[in-house]
Amino acid sequence: MSKKLTKRAEDYSKWYNELIIKADLAENSAVRGCMVIKPYGFAIWENMQKELDRMFKETGHVNAYFPLFVPKSLFEAEEKNAEGFAKECAVVTHYRLQNDPDNQGKLRVDPEAKLEEELIVRPTSEAIIWNTYKGWIQSHRDLPLLINQWANVVRWEMRTRLFLRTAEFLWQEGHTAHTTEAEAIEESKQMQEVYAEFAEKFMAMPVIKGAKSESERFAGALETYTIEALMQDGKALQAGTSHFLGQNFAKAFDVKYTSKEGKQEYVWATSWGVSTRLIGGLIMTHSDDFGLVLPPRLAPIQVAIVPIYKGEEQLNMISEKVDVLVKELHAKGVSVKFDHRDTLRPGAKFAEYELKGVPVRVAVGNRDLENNTVEVARRDTLEKQTVSQDGLSDYILELLEEIQTNLFERSVAYRDDHITEVDSFEEFKEVIENKGGFVSAHWDGTIETEDKIKELTKATIRCIPNDAKQEEGKCVLTGSKSGKRVLFAKAY
Ligand code: AMP
Repeated sequence: MSKKLTKRAEDYSKWYNELIIKADLAENSAVRGCMVIKPYGFAIWENMQKELDRMFKETGHVNAYFPLFVPKSLFEAEEKNAEGFAKECAVVTHYRLQNDPDNQGKLRVDPEAKLEEELIVRPTSEAIIWNTYKGWIQSHRDLPLLINQWANVVRWEMRTRLFLRTAEFLWQEGHTAHTTEAEAIEESKQMQEVYAEFAEKFMAMPVIKGAKSESERFAGALETYTIEALMQDGKALQAGTSHFLGQNFAKAFDVKYTSKEGKQEYVWATSWGVSTRLIGGLIMTHSDDFGLVLPPRLAPIQVAIVPIYKGEEQLNMISEKVDVLVKELHAKGVSVKFDHRDTLRPGAKFAEYELKGVPVRVAVGNRDLENNTVEVARRDTLEKQTVSQDGLSDYILELLEEIQTNLFERSVAYRDDHITEVDSFEEFKEVIENKGGFVSAHWDGTIETEDKIKELTKATIRCIPNDAKQEEGKCVLTGSKSGKRVLFAKAY
């Protein structure tokens, strides 16, 4: 393995990029802003998908699939949504190439093959989905309609970063239709809860649940509920969003239902999504100067076993013991890899699993066979211990749980330590500049103040926390009256 990782304290962003490459998660591609997700990174995404998909189904949703392309006339039907996404759309104008007569061996767009109507590569699918829902919804009996799709979307982002912000990304998008406003709001809040539970229980990443301010809201939404996480460098990350869309899309696509009373009513809508950005969040919540640190519940390999041996005979003896352990761990649902490659020395294997964030590493040598022991190393604390082979699989199972809990508690402690209440703009600037993290401050509720604060400090309103207390105060910038504190931070 090539030279060591850059240290986080030296250059956090360089550390992040190097880590992704060295842990073999992803790489930049030939397409500007688009990444290749490598098998190890994709395995993390698959584990995320598996849990999220289960949670969506447990809350009554089903999966479906809609086209990648949105005809321009549909795209522009909901004006606010169209306006919000227009600046970052990829547009298909032609459907054929031909040999270039002026440039031998090259191709060019066939000018005769111009599409009658341009197609937008979906930046989000409300338009195509609501146009479809028009045909699916007639009566109150067709509602609620609770659909999710796993897909890729394209947003022509100018400044991209692996996982956090890419031009094409993988995500899921839920699109639901309801008879009443109250039910739609309840659905969007429920999905915020589902995202928060996933982030905390599986990613071991604490989040703050709240609502977005008007200027940070999804284009076309009446309310955006968000989960906000805090990264190790003090910057916030919007980790997932759930939108209450009111009747905007129903009106744009004329989606009505006949109520029990026989009246024609517009449908109420929500949409909600999380993306491969979560992998960036996972990396920046737990990892250290030695590499990736993965919470056991999402780790593609939870336990790596490395034999330390001289010659085939010793390896055979070790393998006999290890095979039993592997079987036991498999039976308990643990993903384990017995790494008996003879092309790498044990030290190199240790380094590889450390870099790749494998939660538990077990080393078994000749002496261990004599003593009925193994060496167990945990990735979160880097501690090593000699452990008896008796009851080893149960010991490992408990250790995995302990690591999961420890990672969460560690991140909660860091996050809580980085929420600072301030009551003056001097303090505000000081905290944002030097300490980072969330600043809890009074705000007068206007977009002008929000913009001014962003201009002066680069901090934005991350959310108005769901649990914000009513509290008389004065806006930190203008001194105008305010009824509660909101959270500001510099964000990814
Ligand atoms: P939105 O539809 O804008 O609410 O986005 C849903 C979720 O997708 C957001 O909460 C982000 O976590 C994520 N997301 C938005 N833009 C990008 C991007 N360019 N790359 C990766 N993830 C993104």
